[in-house]
This record gives sequence, structure tokens and C-alpha cells, in this order.
Amino acid sequence: MLRALAAAYPDAHCELDFSTPLELAVATILSAQCTDKRVNEVTPALFARYPTALDYAKADRAELEELIRPTGFFRNKATSLIGLGAAVVERHDGVLPATLDELVKLPGIGRKTANVILGNAFGIPGITVDTHFGRLVRRWGWTDEQDPVKVEQAVGELVPKRDWTMVSHYVIFHGRRVCHARKPACGVCTLAADCPAFGTGPTDPEQAAALVKGPEAAHLLALAGLGAAATEGPGGEE
Ligand code: SF4
Repeated sequence: MLRALAAAYPDAHCELDFSTPLELAVATILSAQCTDKRVNEVTPALFARYPTALDYAKADRAELEELIRPTGFFRNKATSLIGLGAAVVERHDGVLPATLDELVKLPGIGRKTANVILGNAFGIPGITVDTHFGRLVRRWGWTDEQDPVKVEQAVGELVPKRDWTMVSHYVIFHGRRVCHARKPACGVCTLAADCPAFGTGPTDPEQAAALVKGPEAAHLLALAGLGAAATEGPGGEE
């Protein structure tokens, strides 16, 4: 299944734009209950205005809230960002730490966010269990666990550590583009032969093709044996 996912998503990556660990931490906090696309629209101005942890610590709350308002829950998120900046300055001399234990003690950073930061900003393997990841690995029978920490541990035992970050990207990409919560595109799914949940969504290729989202739709449909003329999905994220 991993080989098939790797062929389907050769460019799988963290879909949040960032250039430093702090920027990724900020973007990940903003991504709660919000699409990565919308976060990426907000962060260029935000990162330019607040380049360091100290800048967040000293931020004018009203100005910060206004900048991040489009991502929703902006008051809570502003509290997290100001608290994050202050804690990073006080505890870590302004530098985001590179361990799970230290990251999860920072305001606004839970285990999922910490693993995103470790895997993508520090190159330390981490499994990111978001809603897509949990739903898909249970569908596939990789684990029955519901608790994200237990899901992380169970998948960590199945997959070599060096692959943890990429597995997270593959599974999340597949959840956003093909294996949707309510109507997965089973009829054009690259995992159809191996998936115990095949048939949860339409198995007719033409019907399923219309459900595929995202910029890789043509590539995914070609892998499923449908030509480039097949219906392209509407794009975007769930
Ligand atoms: S076959 Fe269906 S349920 Fe299984 S991974 Fe593919 S889209 Fe998801």
C-alpha cells in the first residue's frame, strides 16, 4: 500500500508554506479548523510582520488578530501565538526546540503539531495523526485504535521510522484527494486491490472519477486507467 501511495503522490509534502521551524509552528497553529490553502494566504504578511518569537511575544493583540482573522478562531489562535512567542523566548532563548517533549509544553502545540514540526522543519521522523490519518488507517485495518497517540504508536510499529514523515504525507494526501470521509472515490483508488474498505464509496470508475480532488487528479485518474479526458475533480481541499 505504501508503494502504491508513493507512486500516486511522488510530490507529497507538508502543504503549509514555511521557511523556518517557527513559521511552521505558527502555520500549524493557524491550520486548526482551517484549510492549509487559507493559512498559506495569510502567512506571507504575518511572517513578514513577526519574523521572530519575540515579535509574537510583543505583538499588539488587535493587529495580530486582524492578520489571522481569515483562519477562524482568531482570538484563541492569537492567544496561542503570543503565548508561544513568550514561552520560546523565556525557555529557549527565542529558538524553537527540536524535541517532542519540549515542543508539547509550548502554548498551542499538541502532539500532532509537534510531529508536523519535527518531521518537516527538523527532519526528525514523526507520524502526524490528524482526522484524515486516523480515518484512513482504521479503514485499512492498520489499527482499530481511536486515540491519536495509540494510532501513532500502532502505525509506528508497522512502518520503518525513516518513513514516518512521508507516510504521514501520503495518507493525508490520499484522505484529502481520494479517500473522503463520506464518499471515497473507490472506483479509481490506487489502493482498491488491497483495501478492506473498498466499496465504501462508488466503485464505478466514472462516478468515482468525479470525486477526486486536487491538482494531481489527472495523474491519479491515469494511474486508474482513465485517460486525461476523464472528469477532473473540482480541486481544493476537504
Ligand atoms: S478503496 Fe475506497 S475506502 Fe479504500 S482507500 Fe481507496 S477510496 Fe479509501
